Amino acid sequence: MNPPFGKILIANRGEIACRIIRTAHKLGVKTVAVYSDADAKSLHVAMADEAVHIGASPVAESYLIGERIIQAAKATGAEAIHPGYGFLSENPNFVEQVVDAGLIFIGPSAASIRAMGLKDAAKRLMEKAGVPVVPGYHGEAQELVLLAGKAHDIGYPVLIKARAGGGGKGMRRVDSPDDFAEALAGAKREAKAAFGDDAVLIEKYVEKPRHIEVQVFGDNHGNAVHLFERDCSAQRRHQKVIEEAPAPGMTDEMRTAMTDAAVKAAKAISYSGAGTIEFIVDASQGLRTDRFWFMEMNTRLQVEHPVTEMITGLDLVEWQLRVAAGEKLPLSQDQIALNGHAFEARLYAEDASKGFLPAIGTLHHLAFPATAPAGTAMRIETGVRAGDAISPYYDPMIAKIVVHAADRATALDALAQVIDETEIAGSVTNAAFLAALARDADFAVGDVDTGLIGRKQHELTTLPPASADTISLAALLASGAGAVEMSEDPWSTLTGYSHFHPLARSVTIGMGDTAIHASVVPLENSRFAVKLDVSDQTHEHASPFSEGFAGRFAIWPDHVTIFENGNAYTFSVPDPFAAAADGEAGASSMRAPMPGLAKLVMAAKGDAVTKGQALLILEAMKMEHTISAAHDGVIEDIVSQGSQVTDGTVLVRFVEQ
Ligand code: ADP
Ligand code: ADP
Ligand code: MG
Repeated sequence: MNPPFGKILIANRGEIACRIIRTAHKLGVKTVAVYSDADAKSLHVAMADEAVHIGASPVAESYLIGERIIQAAKATGAEAIHPGYGFLSENPNFVEQVVDAGLIFIGPSAASIRAMGLKDAAKRLMEKAGVPVVPGYHGEAQELVLLAGKAHDIGYPVLIKARAGGGGKGMRRVDSPDDFAEALAGAKREAKAAFGDDAVLIEKYVEKPRHIEVQVFGDNHGNAVHLFERDCSAQRRHQKVIEEAPAPGMTDEMRTAMTDAAVKAAKAISYSGAGTIEFIVDASQGLRTDRFWFMEMNTRLQVEHPVTEMITGLDLVEWQLRVAAGEKLPLSQDQIALNGHAFEARLYAEDASKGFLPAIGTLHHLAFPATAPAGTAMRIETGVRAGDAISPYYDPMIAKIVVHAADRATALDALAQVIDETEIAGSVTNAAFLAALARDADFAVGDVDTGLIGRKQHELTTLPPASADTISLAALLASGAGAVEMSEDPWSTLTGYSHFHPLARSVTIGMGDTAIHASVVPLENSRFAVKLDVSDQTHEHASPFSEGFAGRFAIWPDHVTIFENGNAYTFSVPDPFAAAADGEAGASSMRAPMPGLAKLVMAAKGDAVTKGQALLILEAMKMEHTISAAHDGVIEDIVSQGSQVTDGTVLVRFVEQ
């Protein structure tokens, strides 16, 4: 088949830009990436054939500037622009500008986006088309008295929703008329700030609802099909956490009713491209064809589209490109089949135990399992590599973990296992929360509604504390003992220090705000005994670098992280000798903090060393202490091995910079 385009520009970043580039390349289509300052070295830029810098890191100064993106497309000779999701993907003015510039927008028409852009107008339109909509008020008038009257007529509880809303913003549940005025003011304030439009609609609040959406696809030849449903009921504050397809407990009758309504909705606006019709379902008495209602349409590729790809074997981005190029839909409805079950979990840099506080950081260690559990398939959608940063500028999603198996139980087990085996150090993540949710008993039987996570938040986000055994392993790692052939970590310079002698080595590690002191004693056969000040027991470990060691860990600047059953325990390794850096001469030399013997010297005059690199071992007060470089630099002079030093002796002097 011919490539649908010669070259396209992807007006997005992160995992979705990477995912679009992959399909484009598969089809023989050249790609142009755009990037902000913060993204200059990011994966999507590396993957694209060309890349154009479009501005500063904040989205308002780069990814949201349509003119610059169109300019970049013209300058590089791209014929079409794929907007991804978020950013400009649902902005009809941008679509018009793209078209006016003689380019193709890979997505629906500006008119379709406008028709569905405001939830109130969309609901009026759907009502007319015969699609069931959530009972409520979706008129223009916005006076308090009128809205309060409507809420009363609808019957509490009600949900106030920003008509321009998205991402769960501008919504308030109201349980009693006494709270209505305040909730309305709050929703309007939030909507004004987030969307510049404070008009709201009022809906009946569906109790214990499920969110079930239908993937639709249209072309420019009047065809529209559905690609089955996705269940996105596992939500936190109206935001999706784990999505799956098909919906648990779905019946043929219900599926027919929902997909018919979705295709009818798409046809009502002559929809072209990928779209999603979101329904809210009252499943309190099972899935009933008279208990589902249209909520909104997302006129773009959805974050969770991979679960649909997994159960249909289709490439939705390929379909988007072909449809945008004017081709007919590749398949007719009866050629699209559903096979097996798929899940997607959104892995975020956020601290679930602290109310899901967004986090940032450099992902010093990032490893996904190499293969899926037997009998299942796995897809990791990510826009970052080890060493990349999660910055404060963009959505802190690290990856989407997608699995597929013949049945739901097998797929869910595989999801939990893949999450468990994922290793990330450098930022906290919600991995343990996702794994706990994947193992939740109610979720396992498909009994999930949008309130499940909220009701179980405490149990799903409370980490088992690190055991003394885990802490002692962290202390062992922090001591540097047993390091062999670890080429790029700070302990590597201990290579050759095989005849580790039987003196204890002291080490202090930080666990949260607590400092834990430990002593590490080498035993026979690459084993070590660790004694903690917080435990009476002595903990024995094989050298973490030996064959016999089964645990998983990462060593990164000033920290160690231990991975255990899906949990990541991170400890700080404060350098006790940071204070040894000579204050007077800046950091140009390091002095002995106490009298002792320079037992082993691991660096020499003229060596370029990096911060944290072990330079020598000082034996003092019957303990060994590793002296590590306080900063990067070149050694001008270093104490000689075997020499006795006194308190304050210069151990290492760096060349002045
Ligand atoms: P979806 O409905 O596709 O699952 P969400 O409901 O999670 O997506 O989010 C709603 C929309 O807002 C999506 O288009 C999502 O990509 C977008 N979005 C959310 N956060 C950001 C962000 N930080 N930057 C850009 N887009 C975002
Ligand atoms: P957004 O544009 O922010 O995605 P939606 O209208 O799609 O807004 O609603 C987001 C989520 O809020 C839904 O997935 C659902 O969990 C919840 N929700 C929306 N409408 C209702 C309702 N009428 N009753 C109960 N929950 C609702
Ligand atoms: Mg929605």
